[in-house]
Amino acid sequence: MYRIIALAGALLLGQVQGVAASPADRLAEALRIRTISYQQRAQIDYGEFQRLNDYLRQTYPRVFSELQVELVNDYSLLIRWDGSDADLKPILFTAHTDVVPIEPGTEGDWEHPPFDGVVTGGRIFGRGTLDDKMGVLGLLEAAEQLLSEGFVPRRGIVMAFGHDEEISGKEGAAALAARMKELGLHFQWMVDEGGMLISDVPLLTDRPMAMVNVAEKGYLTLTLVASGAGGHSSNPPKISTIGRLSNAMARIEANPFEPRLVGPVQAMLEILAPHVKQPESFVFDHLWLTSGLVAHRMDQRRLTIPFVRTTTALTMFNAGVKENVVPQRAEARVNFRLLPGDKPEIVVDYIRGVIDDPEIEISYDPWENVPPISDHQGVGFQVIGEAVTAVYPEALVTPSLLTATTDTRHYVELADDLYRFHGVMMDSGQASSIHGTNEFITVESYEKSIAVARRMMELGSR
Ligand SMILES: [Zn+2]
Repeated sequence: MYRIIALAGALLLGQVQGVAASPADRLAEALRIRTISYQQRAQIDYGEFQRLNDYLRQTYPRVFSELQVELVNDYSLLIRWDGSDADLKPILFTAHTDVVPIEPGTEGDWEHPPFDGVVTGGRIFGRGTLDDKMGVLGLLEAAEQLLSEGFVPRRGIVMAFGHDEEISGKEGAAALAARMKELGLHFQWMVDEGGMLISDVPLLTDRPMAMVNVAEKGYLTLTLVASGAGGHSSNPPKISTIGRLSNAMARIEANPFEPRLVGPVQAMLEILAPHVKQPESFVFDHLWLTSGLVAHRMDQRRLTIPFVRTTTALTMFNAGVKENVVPQRAEARVNFRLLPGDKPEIVVDYIRGVIDDPEIEISYDPWENVPPISDHQGVGFQVIGEAVTAVYPEALVTPSLLTATTDTRHYVELADDLYRFHGVMMDSGQASSIHGTNEFITVESYEKSIAVARRMMELGSR
């Protein structure tokens, strides 16, 4: 009897063959699969990635049967939807299936366990809701809907989902890019994760801002080494390796880079100008005169510093093995996030000048392929803007600068313009839950992000 009732209930809810009834429930199920990227690849449970792909195949049957789907490097997904006009350049949608681990000791701080996929009170909780399973499943939901309606794109649509974005993308996005190159694909534009709608931008009191990121910051880590005489601590050298390196680190921290306005931030402020109060409106409208002032003002607030400065973060410091031994070597690392236009060589020269100590060796691995600044008046930007406005008519769409990094750099050679945006809305507090505690997405926002994805596919493939 109970079984019959349960079965009838399942049928009513559409849970035939185990496919959940709503987009939110389908996302929740994907959150229960622990596709965690660990820095040490040996710790990764690839069975979970297999499970996720099996789940996607079962959940989006049209996508997986009607489109050309291939696995790249066993776990990354490449999905091709041919356009009716083969002469037109296709468009590319990317996202990633892996998530970051939970920081040990913080599991108990979550309102709902991070891998339980709990949907309650209009929210979906779990690691990966925002970063980036909403991206993967949102795009699949959109494509599945369009396929069920018999939609035929004129311009081809490709989806590429990497499986190791959180640990460099070398096995996922890089391999996907190589495969797409092999297939001779070149895209009119692409859109990756890394932009969103923010509901509480301080200057815009009554409307959200859709930040479509047209550029991202570069990434550089310098390793600094001080070597010298060590020995017994009963007869120490006048300057120890630790003292020398500490001195250098203190100077680096005391001499940050100068703030300045770069193109994408300037473009954002100019679009904001007519929509904000005075005096900001006037100031943003006269950046030729005020850009230095604005950069210095933005440099006063922790939230806006990354937009106007190549940032300096002292992240590692290692020296010494025993309390009565002076170490012969001390090593430190400093991580920089570079504004567009700042090259690694510029940073190294500046840092050499700041530490002013030739005894300290500096080395680094250059970060290849920092994406160029894409056109905020280009066709892709317009399509994204139109898709946003159709779903969020109240939103102000602006170009902006992504202050973190994504897989996008692996696709630089494949697309004329590269954008970063998912149509999800959050407040700035929620944005900080990414990689942190209590990551969630509201059901409403997730559904709207699917609608935006769908519009981007429809409008972009015209
Ligand atoms: Zn991500």
